[in-house]
Amino acid sequence: MVGQSQTKRSTSEFEFYPYRYFAAEGFLPGYNFPRLPVRAYIPAGDKGEFVSRPRVVALREFAPSNFLYYEGSKFEVYKTRVPAGGIDRDYQRVSVCPNCGYFHDGDNSLRDTCENCRSRLVSDRNGNPAKLNRVLEMGTMITRRRERITCDEEERLKYGYNLTTHFRYDAQNRETATVAAADGTPLLKLTYGETAKLWWINRGSKRNQERGFKLDGKTGLWGEGNRQTNSAIDSSLPTPEVHLLVQDTSNILVVEPMIALNETAEAFLATLQFALERSIQAVYKLEDDELCSERLGQGRHFLFWEAAEGGAGVLSQLLKPQAFQAIAQAALDICHFIHPKQSCSQACYECLLSYRNQFDHPLLNRHLIRSWLEQLTGSTVSYDRPIPRDAHYQQLCAQVDRHSLFEQQVLDAIYQRGLKLPDAAQALIAEANCKPDFLYRSQGIAIFCDGSAHDHSDQQQRDRIDRDNLTYHSNYSVFVLRHDENWQEKLDFLATLID
Ligand SMILES: [Zn+2]
Ligand SMILES: [Zn+2]
Repeated sequence: MVGQSQTKRSTSEFEFYPYRYFAAEGFLPGYNFPRLPVRAYIPAGDKGEFVSRPRVVALREFAPSNFLYYEGSKFEVYKTRVPAGGIDRDYQRVSVCPNCGYFHDGDNSLRDTCENCRSRLVSDRNGNPAKLNRVLEMGTMITRRRERITCDEEERLKYGYNLTTHFRYDAQNRETATVAAADGTPLLKLTYGETAKLWWINRGSKRNQERGFKLDGKTGLWGEGNRQTNSAIDSSLPTPEVHLLVQDTSNILVVEPMIALNETAEAFLATLQFALERSIQAVYKLEDDELCSERLGQGRHFLFWEAAEGGAGVLSQLLKPQAFQAIAQAALDICHFIHPKQSCSQACYECLLSYRNQFDHPLLNRHLIRSWLEQLTGSTVSYDRPIPRDAHYQQLCAQVDRHSLFEQQVLDAIYQRGLKLPDAAQALIAEANCKPDFLYRSQGIAIFCDGSAHDHSDQQQRDRIDRDNLTYHSNYSVFVLRHDENWQEKLDFLATLID
């Protein structure tokens, strides 16, 4: 592939071409590949230039009516590229949870309650609506040169944009665990999501709490002012409340502190978020920009994600039994509780403050989390079982042999009848070197689903050897379901064994 680094001249169009091409053709899964940046066209020089930014940065910098400075001149973002089929087809309808930030699109956007936390999908505490009817994925933006910025524009720029962060687990790739203190008090709930999706939505200028942007779908011009000067003959109004979105795929960890809600909860949560972020970075030797975090929705869900290309692989390690002991120690150290620093009354740039969290500075107070961190030093992480039935079923579906239709039929029947679901599908019993189709571990039952592939006599002989081996070398009993017998009836019998 062509180099990823960017030089200044107009080679940028060429540089990203292979990635853009493959992505457009649907070959790129969007993960473990360089993440496509968003570009803005600048009409400078002979042919103009493209500048690119990482997606989340672009969502602010290339937002409609924002100004870019390029080689000493000012450029205003005023237009978006209109695809051949028109912009209207590109609008998505989404809904996001006010409590945990969970993202719902497609048919899920019509839900009334959050799929993740069951909260009602209503406006969040800042008045941001949960349901958005016109959300547009940010594409290439186009700028024009501007000599000066008006007072009104300057005022608007000062306010900045209202951005919200959202996520969604990949159904088959999520694990939940609890971090409990030595005395058993639950401290944190963890949900680790591998290859989860992240979204950021630009909901418009913060000034006057504007909702989205206005966009002329025919010309791609943003705002109202642009239209009047550019398409005076067209009397149709621009489409209001268009929201811009960028997305990414990443390993994530959602951390929910289990604390009572009281008047210091917000300050406690903000302080804990940054203490955890900095201590995870310290323990796993990550740079600031390799691990990011945000408080979502009501502030009780911390989202951590691996921002490094391809992921640093750290977040999955936080589910190890003792992981939070080291993090607690590092946090106590960072917050000057091991080597006292008298001059730091609540927080300083050495412990919790950074340029990035400046809006939270008034909330940060290291003393609020001290005793909580001390409890965390003796903590243990344990996986939560059972997982919700639907999620469990989805996991099993992902594990079954995709070549065996019968196996899936059996699983579906178990699920639909409301029977206890197997603990695992296609799991290896090492001592017998055998992979039963389904396992009920505590009952010691290994289920084999013999589809038509098992009709041949040589296969039947191999099956017999495998299964004899299993009963001989392990504590499992073999339970066979054959596709050409009344296996449904046999499930009734299975139900009595697993109850
Ligand atoms: Zn939710
Ligand atoms: Zn300090």
